[in-house]
Amino acid sequence: MNVEPVISVRDLRVWYGTERGPVRAVDGVSFDVRPGETLGLVGESGCGKSTLGRGVLGLLPTGAATDGSVRFNDRELVGMRQQELRSLRGAELGLIFQEPMTRLNPLMRISEHFAETLRAHEPGVSGKEIDVRSIDTLRRMGIPPTRYRHYPHEFSGGMRQRIMISLALVLRPAFVVADEPTTALDVLVEAQILSILHDLKKNFDTALLLITHNLGIVAEACERVAVMYAGRIVEEGDARQVFSEPAHPYTRELLRSTISLSTTALHYIPGAPPDLVEPPSGCRFHPRCPDAMRVCPLIEPVEVRTPTGERVECWLHGPAELIPPGGTAPLQRQELASADEA
Ligand code: SF4
Repeated sequence: MNVEPVISVRDLRVWYGTERGPVRAVDGVSFDVRPGETLGLVGESGCGKSTLGRGVLGLLPTGAATDGSVRFNDRELVGMRQQELRSLRGAELGLIFQEPMTRLNPLMRISEHFAETLRAHEPGVSGKEIDVRSIDTLRRMGIPPTRYRHYPHEFSGGMRQRIMISLALVLRPAFVVADEPTTALDVLVEAQILSILHDLKKNFDTALLLITHNLGIVAEACERVAVMYAGRIVEEGDARQVFSEPAHPYTRELLRSTISLSTTALHYIPGAPPDLVEPPSGCRFHPRCPDAMRVCPLIEPVEVRTPTGERVECWLHGPAELIPPGGTAPLQRQELASADEA
């Protein structure tokens, strides 16, 4: 695709200070998202997905340090003053949260939420314009105008999530991070929200980063997918290609662990994502990887392109010239155990 990206992330790092040392929650991540495109970000809990989403929007808690570059329509967001970032958020950068009820004020009518959002970014906007734009956005999300002056508790969970999406979109942001937007919802509402997100891309050319642990959602809603493990993107590319021929063993194991109608035996990845204060040496997935080779705990894999164009960080794909002699022999787990004891 030759269209310029809306958002370009390069070597982004996010650390949190703890008593045990820095937690490297995002550790050198790069990706682009173009207008009208959805990039799905997947991985187990604790792999850094939400931190990455918030880091891109500059929405991290105090005490977090960020490094690298996030270019948004030719502006650099890393290091930008909070005040400037705040004015971009909402107006040009949007965030859809997981739990709508915790974000909607139960004492405020839906109309008041819209008025607050619009006035914060467009101080001169008239009451009439607020109503017209808000009702139009709600209608696109399937919420009838008759519900405009209702309170949050008068809506179902799925409707509240659609209201949250409308609030994130009423200012027509160019880039939106949706963090597990359907996790708390049943499958029918989930399908509705996915179709709304699909229309949104088509109608407004919005670029979307969709964070989810649900691979089915990515297969349905995303053109591209990035697989995150222990703070790194280990595979990224065309969603159909990645799902049909995963290049990284972690992607393959994640897909095998997904339950579908054809599932006959449950599969799971043994172990858990590592402690990010002290991640494993070399490839961070090596303690859990069924394909681990002798090179894997020794040297961090470098990014390579597969013949079909996906980016992958795994020694199975080379480059051969960087692998030391004997490095491709299978890793014996006893070798690891004795190295740990030494
Ligand atoms: Fe497995 Fe080695 Fe590839 Fe890491 S680099 S995913 S340990 S084969």
